[in-house]
Amino acid sequence: MAENKSISVEEAKDLILENTRVLDSTVVHLTQAKGYVLGEDIISPVNLPFFTNSAMDGYAVKSANTEKTGENKPVFLKVVGTIRAGVYPDFTIGHGEAAKVMTGAPLPKGADSVVMVEYTEEKDGIVKVKKPVTASENIRYEGEEIKKGETALDVGTEVTPASIGFMAELGIDKIKVYRKPKVALVVTGEELVGANEQLKPGKIRDTNSVTLQSAISSETAELLFFGRVKDDASDIEEKLKKALEWCDVLLITGGVSVGDYDYVKEVLDKLRVEGIFWRVSQRPGGPLYFGRSGNSLIFGLPGNPASSLVCFYEYVRPALRKMAGKKSLHLLEIEATLLNELKKQPGKTNFVRGYVEKKDDSFYVKSTGSQGSHMLKSFALSNCLIVFPKDSDRLPPGNRVKVHLLPG
Ligand code: AMP
Ligand code: MG
Repeated sequence: MAENKSISVEEAKDLILENTRVLDSTVVHLTQAKGYVLGEDIISPVNLPFFTNSAMDGYAVKSANTEKTGENKPVFLKVVGTIRAGVYPDFTIGHGEAAKVMTGAPLPKGADSVVMVEYTEEKDGIVKVKKPVTASENIRYEGEEIKKGETALDVGTEVTPASIGFMAELGIDKIKVYRKPKVALVVTGEELVGANEQLKPGKIRDTNSVTLQSAISSETAELLFFGRVKDDASDIEEKLKKALEWCDVLLITGGVSVGDYDYVKEVLDKLRVEGIFWRVSQRPGGPLYFGRSGNSLIFGLPGNPASSLVCFYEYVRPALRKMAGKKSLHLLEIEATLLNELKKQPGKTNFVRGYVEKKDDSFYVKSTGSQGSHMLKSFALSNCLIVFPKDSDRLPPGNRVKVHLLPG
């Protein structure tokens, strides 16, 4: 690692993904699978639908019997039975006959179509049909959605409520998925106290523990919070050693800058973590550290609350998603029209907390207020990060800007 050399946002993102591998797979029960990614193709063991059935409540008929039907020229068919969903009919529809049928119920033999109930009137076992149907109208055929042996879902598909339902329909209850990355979180800082502790002079509330735990909980990841540690090299070493024995990704906040009590990098060197970069030309989050120990990734996130959260979304999250087998890694990027002027010194990419809205088919975005890296208010009001390019010093209102949408 070239010490002190600040790299660009793009280089940092590339280096992280180059050093990130997709994890091995594991088997999970379907009901526990949301958010995982399929580690195998799902081959359909059945035809779907399982049997040819009615798409409507109505009457199963031979379409040829209804050919000449019109509003003033109804046809009368004999009702030979009623078929409800869940019951297989044991009779056949003959010429001049019909069977009352419910949505999803099997189509009886002899019928090739269903007349919707709205176009019929039944009286004394005879149904009056007022509208013709064509062959196959209102029928769902066996295997029309998927046939036995066909690929139902490809490896790499993200498991969602809909895909869980689809696999349940196929009768699958266990699936192979990429395992979740194990994420260890260690928060450093002498000055930090928890939400329920007394705030003595000079102390501040530890917000990174809660913001990061909350952000990680929305990801496909297994989180273990290793707690807070004081700015003491041997305490930090002990904690990081334990965390590294367990995790795929180690997140440390604070202590990676150039202050007198910033021991994290020194400890990581001692633990033989290979430093890949330290410092990115960006605001917030300039002192971001990234390293590797075997296949485990180590992120040293700057302690300021907005910095650590921006670094989580822009850098850590894509790595977690790649490990879990996901294809789309980065925050969704859209273009929007800027509503307020943005200014800065050239030389660093800025991620500006903003609020994006759609009006009349276009996206508009504005900054949500003061952008100090210690400030969470503008972050709390935001739903996106506006990318203020490295070499630019001013973006006037009306400019088109890139916007990274934040997950909820
Ligand atoms: P550091 O990266 O340790 O130099 O910290 C930079 C700034 O972030 C300092 O003002 C710290 O007090 C603050 N800070 C560090 N960790 C936290 C935390 N967990 N919650 C809130 N502020 C923090
Ligand atoms: Mg500190």
